[in-house]
Amino acid sequence: MLKMLLFAALLFGVYYIFFRKESLTSSSSSDNAPEDAMIPCAKCGTYVQFKETLTRDGKHYCSRECLEG
Ligand SMILES: [Zn+2]
Repeated sequence: MLKMLLFAALLFGVYYIFFRKESLTSSSSSDNAPEDAMIPCAKCGTYVQFKETLTRDGKHYCSRECLEG
């Protein structure tokens, strides 16, 4: 009986991990993929990948120069 419970828990754990992975990848491949989205610099307007931007006060900048200038 204990083995059954352990097995069930293991199955659930594996299922849970896969389900989470699946939901993560599906959400990142949909339209809201902030990591790869191109957004304009708040200062100079240059489009840069979201993950490359510097953020201050909710605005995104292409470089430190734009962030501080
Ligand atoms: Zn800029």
